[in-house]
Amino acid sequence: MANDLPLRPPPPLLDDACALFLDVDGTLVGFAEHPSAVALAPDVRAAIARLSDRLDGALALVSGRPLGQLDALFSPLRLPAAGLHGHQLRHADGRSHDAHGDQANADWLRAVREQAERFASSHPGILIEDKGASLALHWRTAPDAAAEVRAFAERHVRGNSGYRLQPGDHVIEFVPIGSDKGRALRMMMQQAPFRGRLPVFIGDDLTDEYGFEAANAQHGWSVLVGERESSAAVFQLPDVDAVHGWLLENAWSSAANPTSTSTSTKKEMHAP
Ligand SMILES: [Mg+2]
Repeated sequence: MANDLPLRPPPPLLDDACALFLDVDGTLVGFAEHPSAVALAPDVRAAIARLSDRLDGALALVSGRPLGQLDALFSPLRLPAAGLHGHQLRHADGRSHDAHGDQANADWLRAVREQAERFASSHPGILIEDKGASLALHWRTAPDAAAEVRAFAERHVRGNSGYRLQPGDHVIEFVPIGSDKGRALRMMMQQAPFRGRLPVFIGDDLTDEYGFEAANAQHGWSVLVGERESSAAVFQLPDVDAVHGWLLENAWSSAANPTSTSTSTKKEMHAP
């Protein structure tokens, strides 16, 4: 449900009673022409490592990328993570869970990919990204093709009950039904070390709205990066640089380390 109130910056400091859920592209790294061309700033990686320690490991990545790409991007960190918009989950103890689709859906997606590649070959600049259980069509370098790509995706998802379309920033993606970032947050919050904490979800895109709603439902913080006409988020940071600044401040500020995880601390935290 959209939040009708004006968005404000999040409070400057987290407390140790929270669990942090971070989207990646558009939140921790800027966009590039190709998803493989992004890099994480070393000081941001260090801040994330420090925050993860501070939160007893209750810091997770929640991304549309597959887990393997997340691990490569954040190496040597190997964080709890949701990949493919929640289709893949890896908990803090290393257990991973891959929601399996059926063979008919896998065959269907393979056929869509072949048609998408033919479509892209006649539309320069469109990038087809095969993520295994999902398929993304990017038009970042061909912005005039947006309507055609969307129409292609809508035409092909029709009649398949196992997939839905996830629109995003210069991308539309076929993702398995039942997987979204809100579900990923809820599943992680049932497990240690997330259980009993207040979720803080930070993301920039439409797929993150599921995470915002899930965080709000658990009286946590939802933080939109950038602008959107309508969002469930309660707080806002203007861009990736502001997210970096906020994380660095929280990681290194000596004041940012209250030790109480009492109920009163949690109540303080969720009061917007
Ligand atoms: Mg994003």
